[in-house]
Amino acid sequence: MVDLDHALKAAQHAVAEASVVCRLVQKDLDRIRAITKDDRSPVTVADFASQAVICHRLTEALGPIRMVGEEDSASLRTEENADRLREVVEAVHAVWPDATTDDVLSAIDIGNDDGAGRSFWTLDPIDGTKGFLRGQQYAVSLAWIDHEHVALGVLGCPNLSADFSRPFDDPDPHGTMYSAYGGAGVYEQRADKPDDPGVHIRLLEREGGQAPRMCESVEAAHSKHTATAQIMERIAPGGYESLRLDSQCKYAVVARGQADAYLRMPTRAGYQEKIWDHAAGSIIATEAGCPVSDILDVGLDFSQGSTLKRNKGIVCAAPRLHGTIIEAIGALGLAEPPCAD
Ligand code: AMP
Ligand code: MG
Repeated sequence: MVDLDHALKAAQHAVAEASVVCRLVQKDLDRIRAITKDDRSPVTVADFASQAVICHRLTEALGPIRMVGEEDSASLRTEENADRLREVVEAVHAVWPDATTDDVLSAIDIGNDDGAGRSFWTLDPIDGTKGFLRGQQYAVSLAWIDHEHVALGVLGCPNLSADFSRPFDDPDPHGTMYSAYGGAGVYEQRADKPDDPGVHIRLLEREGGQAPRMCESVEAAHSKHTATAQIMERIAPGGYESLRLDSQCKYAVVARGQADAYLRMPTRAGYQEKIWDHAAGSIIATEAGCPVSDILDVGLDFSQGSTLKRNKGIVCAAPRLHGTIIEAIGALGLAEPPCAD
């Protein structure tokens, strides 16, 4: 039996520390790119460092854990990636100063679980890698899956401001962190202060009569923008506002009432959403009172290993809009049967 309060505190600490590491790497993009001669390497460095810090801190606080992480250390151990490994270890030192190279590699590999068990952690050490590389929004996403349901989620949003008036492409100096576990509601804290007591948030539905605000991916390859436009034209003939941002920050933006919905419309048949792209975000939205389902109104099924193979796309919306969006998807013929196993 897991003590959820204890697990939550450990997870918040771990995510806040990883957020600090990611923020430092993001400030250093140009130097890392120059050393490794690879445009994408800064996100790889931050990804590995974030996973190492989180696996290490959770193990320290909770004992041995099962973790389905996005990364494993195989590529980092090769001769050609020696520069990259040095950068990862240096990044980790910001919060774990006495870590050796072996400590870091072993910590990353704690995340190698395949998700076949009934209870495990899942981690996306940097969700929204494209946003990270553009200097925009990304998230550190950690969740505990217990008997096929998300039991706890912590979402670090290092560039997302608590101030709704700050544009998403203007990184906040502190960032925000959202946490939730079953029935306990959602807490908002600063992403750079693990001991910040935080504030309890609940869904603040935007007033009716305003043009709905819809979140979607920046990347057209991750969510079909034309399908979102079709749905919105049908349900909001007076117009709507589209908020494009990377990562599970979209779930937080809906949970805190800044937007009315997050839609993820499949771009190709057969794509299976990864559990770490939705576990933490979905519990934060549902605990705030916003239903989350797939585009056929089926609940997300976390019992199928590392992907949501029984689901297709995502609809997360304020209660007054969720059913309307599902209806529009059906009426427009945008939902096909979910992909077979
Ligand atoms: P976003 O920040 O909304 O653009 O989503 C980022 C996530 O999209 C990444 O973590 C990927 O795992 C995921 N992804 C990659 N390819 C696809 C795809 N074809 N459809 C949906 N999501 C994808
Ligand atoms: Mg991701």
